[in-house]
Formats: sequence, structure tokens, C-alpha cells
Amino acid sequence: MDDMVSQAAGSQSAGLSAHQCTTLYLVLPCYNEEEVLMDTAAALEIKYNKLMEEKKISRESKIMFVNDGSKDRTWDIITELFHRNAVFCGINLSRNRGHQNAVLAGLMTAREKADVVISIDADLQQDIEAIDLMLEKYENGCDVVYGVRNTRSTDGFVKKNTALGFYKLMQMMGCEVITNHADYRLMSKRVIESLAEYGEVNLFLRGLIPTIGYPSDAVYFDVKERQAGESKYTMKKMLSFAVDGITSFSIRPLQLITILGFLMLIVSIVMVAATIYDYYTGRTVPGWASSYCSTWFIGSIQLLSLGVMGEYIGKIYMETKHRPRYHIEAYLWKDGQEKEE
Ligand code: UDP
Ligand code: MG
Repeated sequence: MDDMVSQAAGSQSAGLSAHQCTTLYLVLPCYNEEEVLMDTAAALEIKYNKLMEEKKISRESKIMFVNDGSKDRTWDIITELFHRNAVFCGINLSRNRGHQNAVLAGLMTAREKADVVISIDADLQQDIEAIDLMLEKYENGCDVVYGVRNTRSTDGFVKKNTALGFYKLMQMMGCEVITNHADYRLMSKRVIESLAEYGEVNLFLRGLIPTIGYPSDAVYFDVKERQAGESKYTMKKMLSFAVDGITSFSIRPLQLITILGFLMLIVSIVMVAATIYDYYTGRTVPGWASSYCSTWFIGSIQLLSLGVMGEYIGKIYMETKHRPRYHIEAYLWKDGQEKEE
């Protein structure tokens, strides 16, 4: 994180100067959130009024609810809020597409109007007071500000340890996730424009945003208990999210097969040598040495071959994603004028 901070400090950023007012869009994915939505809206309305009065955000700023195919009254409530106060707006997905897709839908819709977007869960477990610091960091030149939770005291033993283990595993697999950062984050317009260039279907924003680059920093906050309703992340959804995270970013599991194949080959060479020694010292029965040698050897060659195929499949998989290979942050153009993305 330190290098992120220094990057941010030294950057010629997309952040607007202090006197220009930033248009902030808040994106909240909602799946069956009828119990919390009114409270969430009330808390955010107060927060937005304050931010507008302090001229930290423009009057055009909005709070955008993304209804992710809820089966309860969520969309009715969003519609009611929209008619009551113009600060609220909403989009309705045709069916439940999952948290990540709901956030993406919000970001892609908001990018037309917003200078900066913050995604946050609809239950407001994440502290909205961190928004001020996020905006401050944006003004100081950060394009991405990650919300990182301080403690996991509100989580049960299982959720806490599976989550921490998951971040460790992801990092071991070579994915740049930030420990204890969920999807509470600020993104500037140019980050969202860059994100729009990624066409992948298995979306794992936590891994994708750090790969995009640009100056970034983190703010720390405490997580609250869910005010009402239950967690919409069932064990099944959490597991498939974890598998998606690893398989979307890493072909290391396939590479592990090659390594295992090599190790097996070395073992098989030792075993073959020992078997030949036993054969010549007469400590074998007829037929044993040849079948023992071939079992070891064929086994290791098969594993190695699988690994080689895995390497190619991994390459094909990464190619099919058509990820952009670079994003340009700034130009120093021939006519001497500096251009920003
Ligand atoms: N969510 C969603 N679609 C889903 C599941 C969850 O949009 O299929 C939203 C949910 O409404 C909430 C956010 O994702 O705003 C995080 O879910 P939740 O708070 O239930 O997860 P937890 O905090 O328990 O991990
Ligand atoms: Mg929650």
C-alpha cells in the first residue's frame, strides 16, 4: 500500500481542483433489501445534503440503486424514493445477476454523468463517514480509493477465517487483491472508462481494479452489524465467488500440474534405479521389476503431459478474455501541451 501512497502523492492526477465541485454517484447493488432500503436512503440523504452544503460534491450528484432482480418490494421502494427526491435514481436488472454484475451495471450507467463513483453495499455495513476521506484523496490525485475494513469483529468465526484464508490464497495464486477490501471503493471516471474495456463475463472486481492501475490509496473504516434483513451472500454464493476469483485471475492451478509432473518424474527415476538395483541383486520375482518401473514412469509422464496441455489451455483462457494490454495515464504531446486520458 505504501507504494500506492507515494504513487498517488507524485501523480499528475485526474482529481479536480478544490474549487471545482465533483459530481459523485453512489452505486448500491440491492438484492431483496426491502427491510433496509428506507433506512439506507434516509442516512444517505442526510449525508448527501451535508456534502453538498460543504461543497464537497455538486448538486448534480446522485444516489443510484441497482435492483438485482429482487423478489420483494425493493424496486417499488426505489421507484418511490426517485419520485420523492431527485437525488435518488435507480436501474432495474432483468433478473438476479449477482452482486458483481449489479455493481458493474451501476458503474457503467453512472459513468456518463459522474466525475467519480463510489460503490457501497445497500445495507450500509460499511461506514459512509469514510466518503469524506475518499473524496479528499480523490482531490489529492487518487483515481482509486479502496475502503479497507479495520476489524472483522462483526463476522462470525467461520466467515472471518474463510474470508482471511481466501485473501491469502488469492495472493498466493498471484492475484493482486487487497486484504479486507470488499467492494466499497471510489473510482474516477477514467478508471471506469478503462474498466469498460474489459469484456470478461466472470467478473471479480476486487481483482480487476488493481490490475487497471492509476494512482490509488486506501481509507480504513469499521464495519457495522447489518441493520435489518439477512446476508444475501449464501454459502453457495460465497464459494462460487471464491472459485470465480481464483479462476478468473490465475492459471497457477494448471501450472501446479506441471510442477507435480516434474516432481513425479524425479521420484520415478529414483524408483526405477532402485528397482533395477533390486533386479540385479536378485531381490525380485519375475515380472515385478518391469511392471513396477512402467507404472511409475508412465504415471509421471502422463502428469507432465497434462501439465503441458494445461499451460496451453491457460494461455488460451487468458487470450479469450481480450483484456486490454495497457491504459495510458497521461501524454506529453509534441505541441508541449499535457493531455490527460
Ligand atoms: N447483492 C446483490 N446481488 C446478489 C447478492 C447480493 O446485489 O445476488 C447485494 C446486496 O443487496 C448487498 C451487497 O450485494 O447490497 C452485499 O451483500 P450482503 O450485505 O448480503 O453480503 P455480506 O455483507 O453479508 O457479505
Ligand atoms: Mg452486508
